[in-house]
Amino acid sequence: MPYAEKLVRSWRACWYIPGRKNAVKKSGFPTKKAAEDYAEEQEVDARRGRPRTDSHQLTFREWVMEWHSGLDLEPASMRSYTSIIQNHLIPQWGSWKMKDLEVADQAISVWKQGLHSEYLYSTANGISGKLYTALADAMDQGIIHRNPASTNRRRGKIAPKRKRKQEARYEHITDPLGAFFIAERVAYLSGRDDEFVLVMAIFWLGLRWGETTGLTRESANTTFRLGRQLYEHPGKRWYWKEPKAGSERDLDVPPFLVDLLDYQARHVRHPEATGPWCPCGNELEERYRHEPGITLFAGIDEGDFHQKASPFRHQYFYPAARGEFYGGTSQAAPVALANPEDPWSVLPTGKGIKRPSEPKGTWDPICADMTVHGLRHSHRALLEEVGTPKVLMDDRMGHADPSNSARYSHVVPSMRRELVARLQERWSETLDARITMNLESPVPLVKRLLETHSRSTPDLAPGVDEPRGTRVA
Ligand SMILES: [Zn+2]
Repeated sequence: MPYAEKLVRSWRACWYIPGRKNAVKKSGFPTKKAAEDYAEEQEVDARRGRPRTDSHQLTFREWVMEWHSGLDLEPASMRSYTSIIQNHLIPQWGSWKMKDLEVADQAISVWKQGLHSEYLYSTANGISGKLYTALADAMDQGIIHRNPASTNRRRGKIAPKRKRKQEARYEHITDPLGAFFIAERVAYLSGRDDEFVLVMAIFWLGLRWGETTGLTRESANTTFRLGRQLYEHPGKRWYWKEPKAGSERDLDVPPFLVDLLDYQARHVRHPEATGPWCPCGNELEERYRHEPGITLFAGIDEGDFHQKASPFRHQYFYPAARGEFYGGTSQAAPVALANPEDPWSVLPTGKGIKRPSEPKGTWDPICADMTVHGLRHSHRALLEEVGTPKVLMDDRMGHADPSNSARYSHVVPSMRRELVARLQERWSETLDARITMNLESPVPLVKRLLETHSRSTPDLAPGVDEPRGTRVA
C-alpha cells in the first residue's frame, strides 16, 4: 500500500516495489495528497514492470537522497552511508542525470583510481562500493538498465593488491610483559584496579573494544559464550547487540584470568539505576537495551555506566602504552615525572595545569604508536607464538574462515585445553619477569598478584637495591 509520511515542512511519498522489503521513499511534496498520488502512481508502475515516470530526468542527487531515506540499517552503518553520500557521492555525481551516469564507466573508473591514490585501500573500496550499491538498487527499480560501477573486468589490479597486503601487516603489537606494564600503568593513572583487569582481558582474550565493555559477570568462568557487545554511539547511547558479524564465540579463560575476572565481578561499582533497563540506552528500542549492572566494567567518571572509548584512550591508554599524553590538541606531550628515580611520580596534566618544559624524568614508551585494538592483534601474535592450530585461532578471534581447509578442520577439546595451559604458563612467566624488577606496585591488585606469586615461587626474590624499577613505569 502506498502511503505518505509527514516530515517537518513537507510530505514524503512511500511505496513498495516487488522484490524489496522496505518501502521506497521520495520526499519534498507540499501536501499529503500530492505525496500519496505520487506514491500510488509509482507503485502501479512498479507492479506493471514499467520504468518509473521520472527516471529520464532524475539526477543522481535526487536518486541517492531517495535511496538513503529508504535505507533501514544499523546506526553505525547508517552513519557510514550518510557520510560517504554527503562527502563523496553527491559532490562528485550529484548533478549527473541517471541516464548519463548509466554509461559513465570511464568517468567512474577514473574517479575510483583517484580514490585509491588518496585513501587507504579499504576506505577507497568502501566509498566506491556505496556508489555500486546505490546504482544496483536503481537498476532494480528500472531507473537504469546496467550498473556502470560494476568491476567485472579486472584490469591492472596488481598494485592495489600489494598495497592491501602491506596495510594488513600490523606492526604495533606487544608481548605479555608489555601488556602487563601497560595494564599496570593504566590502572595507576585511573586510580582503580578495574582498568588493570580490563586491559588484561583485552590482551588475553583478544577482544574488540565493544566486546570488552560488553563483558558480563558470566565471563568469570573457564568458558563463556561471547554473544553480545556494547556498542557506543559516540557521545550518545549504548547499543546492546550482537558482536561484529559472525563473531559470536566460546572463549576459554585460563585460570589466572578467571580469578581476575571474578575479582572484578565482585568489586565493580555501577552507578545507581532503577527500573528494568540500564539508563545507557535511554530512548532506544528494547532489543538494544540491557538490564542494569550486568556488565563487568563500569565507567570511570561519576555517573558513567560504561567505559567510554575516547577518554579511555587519551587519558589512560596512550599515556601508559606510548608514554605520551594527548591533551586537547593533537600535539603529544611526554608523561612527566617529578622524580626520575620514582616511576610512579607522574605529574598531573589537564586543562590549566602548566607542564614543566624540561621534565626531570619521563615514561618510556612500552610500544610506540600502540592502540587499544593493537592488544587484540597482540593476542593473535601470542596465539601464533604458543603454536595454536589455525582453526582454533580463527575461532578464538571470531574470524569465520570460508576456505576449504577450514571446512574440513575442527576445534577439538584437547586443542582448547592445550591452549589454556600454554596461556597459563605464559602468565606465570610474565609474573616471574615482573617480580625480578621489584615487588612494589601502586596498583593494589598488582601488588597482591606479585606477592602471591613470589610466595608460591620462592626462588624469585627480587634483587635488592637493583635500580631497575624505572623500566616498569
Ligand atoms: Zn548500560
